[in-house]
Amino acid sequence: MKAAVLHEPGSVSVEELPEPAVGADEVLVQVRAASVCGTDLRIFKHGHFKLPAGQARVLGHEVAGDVVAVGGQVTGFHPGMRVSVTPNVGCGRCDMCRHGFNNMCADYEAFGITMDGGFQEFLRVPGFAVQRGNVFELPEGISYAEAALVEPFSCCYSGQQALRVGPEDVVVIAGAGPIGAFHVLLGKLAGARKLIISNRSRPRLDLAARLGADVCVSVRERDLADVVREHTDGRGADVVITAVSDPQVQAQAVDLLATHGRLNYFAGLGTAGSVPVDTNKVHYKGLTLTGTTGSTNGDYGRCLQLVGDRRVDLSPLVGQVFELEKIHDAFAYAASGAGMKAMIAFGGDVFDTAPGTGPRTAPPEGR
Ligand SMILES: [Zn+2]
Ligand SMILES: [Zn+2]
Repeated sequence: MKAAVLHEPGSVSVEELPEPAVGADEVLVQVRAASVCGTDLRIFKHGHFKLPAGQARVLGHEVAGDVVAVGGQVTGFHPGMRVSVTPNVGCGRCDMCRHGFNNMCADYEAFGITMDGGFQEFLRVPGFAVQRGNVFELPEGISYAEAALVEPFSCCYSGQQALRVGPEDVVVIAGAGPIGAFHVLLGKLAGARKLIISNRSRPRLDLAARLGADVCVSVRERDLADVVREHTDGRGADVVITAVSDPQVQAQAVDLLATHGRLNYFAGLGTAGSVPVDTNKVHYKGLTLTGTTGSTNGDYGRCLQLVGDRRVDLSPLVGQVFELEKIHDAFAYAASGAGMKAMIAFGGDVFDTAPGTGPRTAPPEGR
């Protein structure tokens, strides 16, 4: 099978690897769509603290496909089933895992970081990931591309859950990349009174407008704080979401808020440092500052259902489709700051809503 293998930071090559054999408690998925995440780009450039130097790894953690083989001990899954796989597998024993926060487990394993991920033709799902609920059957009618996008969508869902966005809220989304776009869709779904989105470049704002943003602000042309005041009678925003990894955006966020406003630091800053907060503003304006990262399997399941019920359409967020061999082009597109999500295809149509005719070469069963 073909796989895009990261050998060291900056070096990914598409190689022929043996198809994985499936163990007694494992599930083998033929990947049909896998989208490129900012995290993939960061690992490609800088590596990851959970990935030892010299360890080869297949990246990709936003993934959907067909079950093509199951081990003898596996129940609930069968070949031909359309599935998606969530990235973070909690240890199952810590306090966070026991409360259902597999995304906050300190001792996690993850596809595309500690285990090979979705940028390969066949994804082996180890038994512990099957047992901890990381494999989801797709609802009818949802395409593989949309199913892959449910992962980042669910992370945004988890951010808006922390903010309890509702119909009375004026919501500011800073950043109109794919993450900002997901937040627009969720703000619409929550019935937010007004959605204000900001970005440096225009084309992404145009898509945000098509998805339902009410006010689109090019920060090259206007000061975001001025626009927010204009649209709130000087009050400020009820909700602010930082959807871009930019210290300046984080630094401005508190000042955009109305009294009793709520903020979600959605995008992390990684190595870009940290931003001081004026705690007097938090105190005297009664602000709520939140941060979220990833999503629980519970939130993921709810999002898959929302998409399956056609409450939300994720397909406009597929920016460009690339065959696996063109992974470098896909990474370059994802890093360009233009367009939407880069989607990897595997010889088939990522917008298919029915399982493929099976693997082109049958993977070996049993081990
Ligand atoms: Zn991701
Ligand atoms: Zn844990």
